[in-house]
Amino acid sequence: MQLEPTEEQRLIQRTAREFAERRLAPSAAARDRDGRFPVEELRELGQLGLLGVNVPEDLGGGAAGVIAYSLALQELAKVDASVAVAVSVTNMVAELIAAVGTPAQRTAYVPGLVSGAAVAGAFALSEPQAGSDPAGMRTIATKVDGGWRLSGTKQWITSGDRAGVLVVWAMTDLAAGHKGITAFLVRGGAPGLTVGRLEEKMGLHGSSTAQLVLDGVEVGDDAVLGGVGGGFRLAMMALDGGRIGIASQALGIARGALEAAYRYAGEREQFGVTLWKHQAIGNMLADAATWLDAGLLLTLRAASLKEAGQRFSTEAAMAKLYATEKAGTICDIALQVHGGYGYTTDFPVERAYRDVRVTRIYEGTSEIQRLVIARSLLARMEK
Ligand SMILES: Cc1cc2nc3c(=O)[nH]c(=O)nc-3n(C[C@H](O)[C@H](O)[C@H](O)COP(=O)(O)OP(=O)(O)OC[C@H]3O[C@@H](n4cnc5c(N)ncnc54)[C@H](O)[C@@H]3O)c2cc1C
Repeated sequence: MQLEPTEEQRLIQRTAREFAERRLAPSAAARDRDGRFPVEELRELGQLGLLGVNVPEDLGGGAAGVIAYSLALQELAKVDASVAVAVSVTNMVAELIAAVGTPAQRTAYVPGLVSGAAVAGAFALSEPQAGSDPAGMRTIATKVDGGWRLSGTKQWITSGDRAGVLVVWAMTDLAAGHKGITAFLVRGGAPGLTVGRLEEKMGLHGSSTAQLVLDGVEVGDDAVLGGVGGGFRLAMMALDGGRIGIASQALGIARGALEAAYRYAGEREQFGVTLWKHQAIGNMLADAATWLDAGLLLTLRAASLKEAGQRFSTEAAMAKLYATEKAGTICDIALQVHGGYGYTTDFPVERAYRDVRVTRIYEGTSEIQRLVIARSLLARMEK
């Protein structure tokens, strides 16, 4: 496994870091306070090539691989986790269409996602009654002449109200269980597609989370992504890669909080010495730094395997489980080091503490990651 980034990976990481510091940092707290979706910022990220780091070059992407993508996402999340999640979902949608779409679908949808022209991509799998168990979905696609009619409700859809391109999963054969699920490509603003509500969340205020109502949305046969009945497999495949993205997002948030704690501990004095000189504080920071590196190594392992075209599902689940759980604890420590000031909006650790919480929930909760890991361990035992 490669531990040192290549020149190209470093360049992409640096581009993301500079953009995050120059363009995102000055307005991140205001975006959070006002709940402002980062439309302009996403367009600029597209122009910089940061929406398609791991997308093929012929579709407008950078073809720089999964490690470069993870490093870039960490830099964005370190400064603004809301921007990072929009980038992560857009990348996931673009990668999925690039991987399994027909030539016509690839050219019709991917370049717009990668350039930022589509603003964002959305991944519409979850429903009010079906989260961890998406096979229980109730959205239905009915066959009509020349296409399909989609009806149902999707829940928790990141950028769902803003996305120019959505992948929507629906049942095409109710009797076939998960084998009756199909993925469809839907344009934002399609007739019959409306926003039921926008969720008010604990964190990620710059990211919109929409309930989407599909009331007879009509799409052509050419909107079927990856074949009728193949949707469940596609969702699982995309989520395996997506989990590397969420692990990266969590690592970035945690690194931002921890570096703020380092700075604060070096400046703040109590009992005549800086906080750093108090062993209890040093111990907390030492634990946090160790967990952060361990999470990074797990994430780089999963990213390396994916990049090499090998199986990486278990490793991605391990990376997401560990990185997100530890990132939560690291943000908690960073806030504690700031004392009472950490509990105010004057310091960015307060936002990090709120933003990081959801990384243990979306793209498969920690409990679902453990399920994936345990199943894989059992399968190896039984071989
Ligand atoms: C801010 C935000 C953004 C999101 N963005 C998207 C998006 O873009 N697209 C999308 O499709 N979805 C999205 N989601 C949905 C997210 O993926 C789901 O919330 C998640 O999968 C959990 O589903 P649920 O909320 O229905 O919880 P449930 O599935 O009802 O789970 C409730 C609890 O039970 C546990 N549980 C469930 N099943 C098991 C089991 N078998 N064993 C042990 N424990 C179990 C869970 O771990 C959890 O603790 C988003 C969610 C949030 C909060």
